[in-house]
Order: sequence, then structure tokens, then C-alpha cells
Amino acid sequence: MKATKEQVLAQQSKMQLDKYDVCACCGKQLKGNAAWLELSFKTNKYYIDNVVPQEESQGYFPFGLTCAKKVAFSVY
Ligand SMILES: [Zn+2]
Repeated sequence: MKATKEQVLAQQSKMQLDKYDVCACCGKQLKGNAAWLELSFKTNKYYIDNVVPQEESQGYFPFGLTCAKKVAFSVY
């Protein structure tokens, strides 16, 4: 069974967060939970679930969970 968007975001929120990291969406300082989303330089959008081809990835950026739900795409 495929994980839901919320489950994937919750999993990604376990990735390590630096205390100086801010949300890539609103710029607020992130405390506790964050979701790491992958940016594609081809579409200039953020994705969950490792759907971005490696050669089109700009890497991962942290988001607050509320913002992540708004900006994350799950289909490339
Ligand atoms: Zn935000």
C-alpha cells in the first residue's frame, strides 16, 4: 500500500534539523518537526517521496509541516 502524503511528510520530518534552519516557504524558524522536500530546477517545484530524477534535483529543503502540505507535489 502506498503511503499517504501525510505519512510521507511525517517520515521525512524525522530527518535531522539544524537549529538555524528556517522554513523555505515562509522563513519562520523551524522548531521540532520539519518536512524535507526536494526541489527540481526543471519545474521549480517541491516534491515528496523521492520522485525527482537525480539529475534534475536541487537537493532537499526544510519546511514547516503546514507549509509542506501546501507546497509539496507527490507526482513529478
Ligand atoms: Zn513556512
